[in-house]
Amino acid sequence: MTSKDDLELIAVAKRARDRAYAPYSRYAVGAAVRGEDGRIWAGCNIENISFGLTICAERVAMAKMVSEGCRRLEKVVVVTADGSPPCGACLQAIREFARNPAQVTLFLVAESGLAQVCTLAELLPHSFASREVRPVSVP
Ligand SMILES: [Zn+2]
Repeated sequence: MTSKDDLELIAVAKRARDRAYAPYSRYAVGAAVRGEDGRIWAGCNIENISFGLTICAERVAMAKMVSEGCRRLEKVVVVTADGSPPCGACLQAIREFARNPAQVTLFLVAESGLAQVCTLAELLPHSFASREVRPVSVP
């Protein structure tokens, strides 16, 4: 079930995908995240001729979120040709800003439409979150 707000988030991610810079893979990705404060940030993948410098759409969106003062997200949309889930690095990055992984919803959208709705906990059941490596404080 997608709400009007979820449809808005999906539309933002689709527009971001149109701005993807993917001349090497030609695999355009758009992402949008909704913070706990209700604001939305979009991102697209940005490739580089030095491939290791490539940045995923999800992390672009989260960088914008954090740089604009929000540190918790509740929903993530990823739009690709085939509805693929985020890469492992992005799932761990999403985990960093998830208060509760079971309550972060991901909408995986293909060109043909909504492919899957799932939680971060389902996609990354064993995230790295050692009690030995804790931040001093996270608001
Ligand atoms: Zn990624």
